[in-house]
Amino acid sequence: MFSWLKNKRRERALTQYAIPDDEWQRALHTLPFLDHFDLVLVARLRELTTLFLVEKSITSGAEEGEYTLAVTPHMRIVIAIQACVLLLGKEGTVTDVIEDFATFENVIVYPGDFPQTQDFEDEFGVVHQLDEPIAGESWEGGPVLLSWPVVEAGYDESGMSLVIHEFAHKLDMLNGEIDGIPLMPQERIEPFRNAITAAYEDFCIHVDANEDTAIDPYAAQAVEEFFAVSCEVFFEAPELLRLEYPEYFAQLRLFFMLDPVAGTQLRVCAAS
Ligand SMILES: [Zn+2]
Repeated sequence: MFSWLKNKRRERALTQYAIPDDEWQRALHTLPFLDHFDLVLVARLRELTTLFLVEKSITSGAEEGEYTLAVTPHMRIVIAIQACVLLLGKEGTVTDVIEDFATFENVIVYPGDFPQTQDFEDEFGVVHQLDEPIAGESWEGGPVLLSWPVVEAGYDESGMSLVIHEFAHKLDMLNGEIDGIPLMPQERIEPFRNAITAAYEDFCIHVDANEDTAIDPYAAQAVEEFFAVSCEVFFEAPELLRLEYPEYFAQLRLFFMLDPVAGTQLRVCAAS
């Protein structure tokens, strides 16, 4: 009953709070990686983005002080689009699919890198407080924190997107573990785990050998970082990931139910 009401509310919100055409077009223009997505997907993305903007608060983490940041409607749309792209291909109505983001309500945007708020536990169980400022953070059951200059730096098709990265961590957390294996049907887990493990191990060998890598070497930090970074590349520079790790690319394609090269949603095939 509750979810029925929630869906009704969401359906109403889609018309009541529809994103104005000029604002939508301006946001699409800002994010050229969406250019080749077909019209069906773009329309679906607009609806998901609308729901995201209705349900999440996207506010400034620096409203006063020396360095302030005012969050504009355009900034909110650009953030929401890149978050929602992760849910775009998923089976179900937009009112169902947006539920994958039900674990948090707030996105906080900073005028630059910010001090890390969460401790980091190393492989020996020792807890460290990192001093280095960071560009993004995704709390389990809490907000997503973003540095605005780094969000802006990802507008081109370089294969980097801080927003996709942090919200990919949100999907990874949905099954209660941050391990690079997002929530998915049981029978898909093994093939996905095998593919990401093989790709990650190969990637680490290249990074350890100080070789130039097509993917940001930060991805070698941990398999969950490899997952988040490869999601950025999957959407923004898919050919690159497909050439580098075809099996892992195929698993991501199934997980997202989306062909980012063709810009189309994958269809569920009933026949085996
Ligand atoms: Zn990360």
